[in-house]
Order: sequence, then structure tokens, then C-alpha cells
Amino acid sequence: MSRSGLIAATGLLPQTGGWVYAKRGRPGIPVTRWLRYIEWGRRFGALRDELPGMSRSRTHAMSTVSVPTAEPLPRVDFASANDPALLLALQREAFRQTKVTTLDDRLADLEKLRRAIKRNAQRIAAVISNDFGNRSRQETLLAEIWPVLVAIRHTKKHLAEWMKPKKVPVAFELRGGRAHILHQPVGIVGIMSPWNYPFQLAIMPLVAALAAGNRILLKPSELTPHTSQFLAEFLGQLFAPNKVATVLGGPEVGSAFARLPFDHLFFTGSTAVGRLVMQAAAENLTPVTLELGGKTPCILAEDAMLAKAAESIVSGKLLNAGQTCIAPDYVLLPQARCEEFIGLLSKKVKAFYPSLKSNPDYTAIINDHHYQRVRRYLDEAKAKGARLIELNPAQEELTAQDRKLAPTLVIEPDEDLALMREEIFAPVLPIKSYTHIEEAVAFVNRRPRPLALYYFGVDQAARDELLRQTVSGGVSVNETLMHILVDDLPFGGIGASGMGAYHGLAGFETFSHRKGVFVQGRFSAARFLRPPFGFVSKAMLKMLISRS
Ligand code: NAD
Repeated sequence: MSRSGLIAATGLLPQTGGWVYAKRGRPGIPVTRWLRYIEWGRRFGALRDELPGMSRSRTHAMSTVSVPTAEPLPRVDFASANDPALLLALQREAFRQTKVTTLDDRLADLEKLRRAIKRNAQRIAAVISNDFGNRSRQETLLAEIWPVLVAIRHTKKHLAEWMKPKKVPVAFELRGGRAHILHQPVGIVGIMSPWNYPFQLAIMPLVAALAAGNRILLKPSELTPHTSQFLAEFLGQLFAPNKVATVLGGPEVGSAFARLPFDHLFFTGSTAVGRLVMQAAAENLTPVTLELGGKTPCILAEDAMLAKAAESIVSGKLLNAGQTCIAPDYVLLPQARCEEFIGLLSKKVKAFYPSLKSNPDYTAIINDHHYQRVRRYLDEAKAKGARLIELNPAQEELTAQDRKLAPTLVIEPDEDLALMREEIFAPVLPIKSYTHIEEAVAFVNRRPRPLALYYFGVDQAARDELLRQTVSGGVSVNETLMHILVDDLPFGGIGASGMGAYHGLAGFETFSHRKGVFVQGRFSAARFLRPPFGFVSKAMLKMLISRS
């Protein structure tokens, strides 16, 4: 609904200092009071049945709750209000009116969300699978539901500690005074999420932003329309729109969204769109966190345990059919071990996925555009003489209608191939050999800094040296993907793979303002440092400078 349409339908009118609800000639009710009515209604509804069935519409929920006021509650379908500017104005007003978001408020929000996710886990898996054509149910539980539940548990456990003002020492010269850091909500947070893990990548930042006491506008991806619609309904039934609201739409809506004056904009997606989002945010001096993509290398050292490496790389690569931001993108390994490793990869693929076509555990490519993009990569590699090994254990015929791509190894590809320049995001794994490990390090360092790096090797000194010599968002050693699951590790990229981080404390801090506070004591030497600068001031200054 457009802004003017919503005004007409609801009677909401913009006014200096806030919005009012006006009713046929009667004076307007300040929107803050009106928002409070909704909040009361919600709380009453939440007590009665914590999360109503997903089929119940928000309009219905709001029109049936009894509200402790003589005035009738206006019937407004906020779920259909898809105007981000209007929703931002509502949230801004609500934020201004709320003096504090207490620990109890935040814990209650997180618990409400946790319970609803658990209750809807199977439904979420079904909705996502609908968007993908086939998305493994187990993968959704493993990579979308479980990490979010763990993140909520971790946040609930540590939130009280994180919220406490942190005392910091003051220098000798300032003694008498005390200092501390106060974590404050930044205000209204915009979250833009991608299609590849459409639930996890929308909810994970939401958890951190709620924990930090903010209000949130979410803009999920248009490429997973069923999941995005589900998110709008799911969150719409859990939270009042002045706390959490969802805006649906494609690049145009995304572009308008990024131009809004949020207090923080959190974007997960491609590097190309991330650049546009940051440009738009710069107009408002809105701080951004960019969680972007890139080409994640796997480096196998001379002493790598090849069987274990093959197992981890196959599972990390084929999760979600390679459509994972931290999926292994390509492998660098010693020349002498190349053929043995190819054999091990082939065995592992067969063990994990004996068939592909009708195997519900083998996920499809999200849409035709991406399917054709990857086919073009393979055609180009073949045309330019690369050796392609298709790992199709049951030798099935996979069609464009299935949108399932057989795992494919590309041996010794030229560096100028598209699949060596672009993020692959599919079950295609280039393998390049090296003679000395320094060549592998140089290969990685010549390219944009990756979101993740995987190292396989036994010798600790060699591992530490490699970690020192390469720069990436995160690292797993002798494993793939796992660092993302450690709640106390900040998760984020560097350079072309992003800026800023979240998860655990890093997420809480991303969405908090760390306000430095100095409290002067009763006795302070500061008065000796004020004009007129007499003998004492001059002596003190001399002493301070000589001590420093
Ligand atoms: P995308 O950049 O195309 O889209 C991300 C979001 O931006 C979506 O909500 C989309 O609607 C919106 N958008 C698209 N075009 C826009 C425009 N011109 N202006 C404003 N908004 C626009 O990314 P995607 O294809 O959905 O996701 C895949 C990419 O995301 C990959 O590169 C992947 O590596 C990356 N990714 C990164 C992480 C991470 O944590 N770093 C996680 C998942 C995915």
C-alpha cells in the first residue's frame, strides 16, 4: 500500500513531532498513544496464546483483542503496509517514546522468538524447499534453524553481562574521576538479507539487534518469495510493527530501503550490491555492516590428512549445493598429491550422495538464472581445455528442469576463466596444484581478501605461518565452515568480502552505541588546569608533561 493509500485507509496523518490518528473531523489521537493501545493489545494477545497459528491474519488478531480503552481500536492491517519510509517513521516515534528497553523486555522478545522458531521448524523447512525447488530438510534444520536457536540461547545467557556498564580505568592524572562504557541501542536498524539461507541470514542479525534493544526493519530477498512472505507473517505475528516490520520487494525496494536514514544498516549479499548499498547509506551517514561474498580458498599442506580433508571439503562444498557464502570455492594442493585427492573426493561424493536427481538431501540451484550462469562457467572451462570430472554416482540424467548440478571438479583451470574470477556459488570445485606452499599463499594474496580460508595440515608452526601470511574474514583449520558456529567468534569479512562483524558479543556491539562516560569526583585536580594559568597551573603542566 502506498503512503497516501495508508493514510487514507487508516487515518494516520503526519504531524510535526509525530503522527496522529484522526477520525472524521475529531481531533487526532497522538500516534504514540495509539501505538501504546496496540502494544497493550499485543501483550494481552501474547498472554492468551503466545503465537497464534500461522494462518491467523494480523488484522484478525488486532481486531479481536480487547483493549483497555473506551475508544474503539482502529482496524489497521500493518502487515500490508509495505512502505519502508512509513514504517521507519512509526518505529522512530516508538523509539523516541520508549525510555529504556530493559533486560527483561529483551529476554522476553528472544524467548518468544525461540519458541516460535522451534514450533515452526518443519514449516520453515517446507517453505524454503518450495523456493529452491528442492532444499534438503535436514540442511535447513542444520544450517538455518539450529544455528539461530544456539545464537538465541547464547545471547540470553550472556545478555545481562553484555548490558552492564563496563568500568574502565582512568589515567593517574584524572584520578578522582571515574569512567565507564555504556552500551545503548543505536535506534532503528535496517537489515537486508539474501536468498541462500533466507531464514538464518534474516533472523541471526535480528537476534543481535533485538538483544541490543533496537527496532528493526527487515528487507528479505525477492528470490525466495515464499520464505520472505513467511518471514513477514511470522514476525508480524510475534512483534508489533513499531518494533519489527518486514518490507517485501526486489532491487527497487532494496534501493529505496538503503536510502532511508537508519541508525545502522546491516546488509548481507553480493559485493556488487553491497557497494551500492554503502553508497546509498553514505548520503545519511548511516553506518553499515556489509556481509559479502567472495572466493574462499582451501589450502592443503604437504602433510595434510587427505581423506579427512576430502570429507570436510565435500561436505562443506555440497551443503546447499555450494550456495553458501563460506563454501570452499577452490582447492590449492601439492602437485604430487593431486590424483590421490581427486580419487578421495570422488569416493566421498558417492558415500554422501549415492544419487542426485531424486535425492531429497541434494539441494537444487535456486533459479534458472544461476543454473545457466554455472553451466556457462563449465562450458567455458571445457572449451578452453580444462579437465572436467563430473561426479554423478548413479550416472543420472540431470536436466535444466531439475536445476540440480552434479558435483564437478575442474582440474588445473586457467586463472582467466570466469570460474576462477567470480564467486562460484554452486557444486563446482576447481583444483590447482602448487610446487611450494609459498605459491599457494601468493595465489591467495593476489586476489581480493576472502570471507573464509580453510587450511589442512598437521604441523603447527606451518599453520601459524600461513595464518600470519594470509588475510581473510575467518578461518577453520583441518575443517570447513565450522568457525561460523562458534558464537564467541566475530563473523564477518574484510575488504571485498565485507566490513564489520556479528554473532555473539560482536553482534551485540555492532548494534549498540558504546558511549564513553566520565564522572568527575568531588576532588579533582582539573581546576588547577583552568585559566588564569598561575604558578600552580604552570608547575602542574610542567610535571604532567615531564611524566608523560
Ligand atoms: P544480492 O546482493 O543480489 O541481494 C541481497 C539483498 O539485496 C536482497 O535483499 C536483494 O533484494 C537486495 N538487492 C538486490 N539488488 C539491489 C540493488 N540494486 N539495490 C539495493 N538492494 C538490492 O545477493 P544474493 O544473490 O541474494 O546473495 C548471494 C550473495 O550473498 C553471495 O555473493 C554470497 O556470498 C553473499 N552472502 C554473504 C554472506 C555473509 O555472511 N558474508 C552470507 C550469505 C550470502
